[in-house]
Amino acid sequence: MSGDWNGRVLERKALAPFTWFRVGGAARRLATPFDEAALAALLSEADGPVLPIGVGSNLLVRDGGIDGTVIRLGRGFNGIAIEGTRLRAGSAALDAKVAVAAADAGIAGLEFLRGVPGTIGGAVRMNAGCYGTETKDRLIEARVALRSGEIVSLSNADLGFAYRHCALPDDATVIEATFEGTPDDPAAIHARMDVLMAGREASQPIREKTGGSTFRNPPGESAWKLIDAAGGRGLIVGGAQMSEKHCNFMVNRGNATAADLETLGETIRARVADTSGHDLHWEIRRVGDP
Ligand SMILES: Cc1cc2nc3c(=O)[nH]c(=O)nc-3n(C[C@H](O)[C@H](O)[C@H](O)COP(=O)(O)OP(=O)(O)OC[C@H]3O[C@@H](n4cnc5c(N)ncnc54)[C@H](O)[C@@H]3O)c2cc1C
Repeated sequence: MSGDWNGRVLERKALAPFTWFRVGGAARRLATPFDEAALAALLSEADGPVLPIGVGSNLLVRDGGIDGTVIRLGRGFNGIAIEGTRLRAGSAALDAKVAVAAADAGIAGLEFLRGVPGTIGGAVRMNAGCYGTETKDRLIEARVALRSGEIVSLSNADLGFAYRHCALPDDATVIEATFEGTPDDPAAIHARMDVLMAGREASQPIREKTGGSTFRNPPGESAWKLIDAAGGRGLIVGGAQMSEKHCNFMVNRGNATAADLETLGETIRARVADTSGHDLHWEIRRVGDP
């Protein structure tokens, strides 16, 4: 798998620099296909498990790394095209760029993506959302490469969206997504996004090594309120800490291991279960070997 295809494969490549937490071990192989044909060839030829990743803003790679092929899409997968009130984006396009492109084109409805620091692939996989809108509310269809290398178009319904979840298998790679918005004045859309961003800056540790919300909100509850009530705000395990600013966010204080972060999360889960009876579920995707 080198030389005769349009892409790059690196062996035993450290993944920490590709995640927001900056922790974790190496991938057996890190593959960067440059176009769709190369992705399909890679998938049909690769042995063992594969895992697509975006920019690692919701990802905790364990310290033992990933014994498989990690796929990171980049060049060739980050285009954005607009037709009327529809926007088609490659899965490596950053959510914020997509939101700004939509606003510039006078397409309302994708403002929520402005503050999500991931890619479109990650947004589809996680059904990313905030401020009352989720990816599933705007997505029409997605093109997806299956583990076999076959490329299929899937409708919103096919994707089986639920809260921070879609029904795709973990080894399916989102290639592209099409969204539909409504017409509006670009200046008004930008103004709404500015308000959202100011709120986010004030309430989340967005300049730290973090992974976004650690736990999903239980139905009708806020994970952060349960964590706060359990005394979890600011709790430290090794180099990991529950953020003082937003106590459902973990932060790497500089020297955390993935084990520190995972132990911190499990300690919080146990404390919340003791104090409130709620069983918190991880929103952060934990991958790889301990
Ligand atoms: C400061 C901060 C704020 C955040 N705020 C929000 C928020 O408001 N709302 C919200 O929903 N999330 C939020 N997040 C979490 C995160 O940004 C989202 O979940 C985002 O969608 C993840 O995208 P990513 O590209 O970083 O994916 P990664 O973290 O790299 O991966 C996440 C999951 O998506 C899968 N994946 C990634 N790319 C693909 C692809 N092309 N095909 C198939 N699967 C893929 C991975 O396998 C993994 O399971 C925040 C994170 C941070 C750090």
